Amino acid sequence: MVERDIEFGTSVTFAGVSKTYGAVKALSDFNLSIQPGEFVTLLGPSGSGKTTALNVLAGFVDATKGDVLIDQNSILGLPPERRNIGMVFQNYSLFPHMNVFENVAFPLRLRKMAAAEIQKRVGESLAMVQLDDLGDRMPNQLSGGQRQRVAFARAIVFEPSVLLMDEPLGALDLKLREAMQLEIKRYHKQLGCTILFVTHDQGEALALSDRIAVMGDGQIVQIDTPDRIYDEPNSKYVADFIGTTNLLEIEHKASSTIRFSDLEIEFTLPDNHEGWGRDRTSVSLRPEKLHRETSTDNQTIIFDAMIEEYLFLGNIIQYSVRTKTGKTLLFQEHRGPSVPILARGDALKLAFSIRDARPLDGETHGSGVA
Ligand code: ADP
Ligand code: MG
Repeated sequence: MVERDIEFGTSVTFAGVSKTYGAVKALSDFNLSIQPGEFVTLLGPSGSGKTTALNVLAGFVDATKGDVLIDQNSILGLPPERRNIGMVFQNYSLFPHMNVFENVAFPLRLRKMAAAEIQKRVGESLAMVQLDDLGDRMPNQLSGGQRQRVAFARAIVFEPSVLLMDEPLGALDLKLREAMQLEIKRYHKQLGCTILFVTHDQGEALALSDRIAVMGDGQIVQIDTPDRIYDEPNSKYVADFIGTTNLLEIEHKASSTIRFSDLEIEFTLPDNHEGWGRDRTSVSLRPEKLHRETSTDNQTIIFDAMIEEYLFLGNIIQYSVRTKTGKTLLFQEHRGPSVPILARGDALKLAFSIRDARPLDGETHGSGVA
């Protein structure tokens, strides 16, 4: 494996960036600050502005408004090749008439680097993606995973301080995708550069990122670490987009009492109940936070349910259950010797702790329904 000097990446800032195409607002007052060396993922549905954000940073698209800074300096006046940014595109965009070596050498030739230095750098980059032996191959003689690696080697060969990746694993099958996720983590560690990664796959975003920025309608709806985005979504939109969840409507009654209308249950909130203001109209409850009733305390909500259907997921079983009001909820549990599998039509009592219910505001963000 090639040892490189770790060069810490640079900071990246989008300051109030807007980009309009006629009547379409691809980005609308988009703000994002990325720390040097950080791995940030833009996660959102198709059409939410992810690619536009990368293109504005890389210099392929001009912003309509706002500024983009690297290490506190505006880069909007610089052409793409002077921004020191590497980019991996979803479709790889390899030059079909050039072999692997020449594809990777291309950015260096563009920068008029000496032949000996090109030889050395291309060799190092290909070694990093474990393709040292394939320099003479043409792109059409490579598998999808190998093409993706060539695209990656080409993006890092000039030692960029910022690396952009636009759905780089989108075309790969699941197994290869998971293997490449580990590879990307390794590259990040080894290169130390700042990475802005784009995906519409929430699992991939959760697995790779230091922070995830969830996009909707050309803006960031929430930005946080993967665990907090998962545990503490700030809106229905984010809760629904990140993983599977149950949304339960709530009504506010007098003196810190709420009513779960889908469960026909009133519940008095414990003393410490910040976050449960009257603007909260629903809660997100992850399927793994539901459990069969065991002991009860004043933090627990218990309701009757009936098994409608189940999915066998290996070590986990996912049930869909129906409440008395006819609402369908998902409930997941780990298999185990003392956990009998429930059958269709079984009636049971389910429970959850109020601490595991995440109150949400009513914002829906219309993105993705283009
Ligand atoms: P994403 O990458 O999240 O799928 P994009 O950034 O590609 O989203 O696009 C955001 C919005 O801008 C979409 O509505 C898209 O149709 C529009 N858009 C992107 N590029 C262009 C373009 N060159 N001309 C017109 N509209 C565009
Ligand atoms: Mg895109």
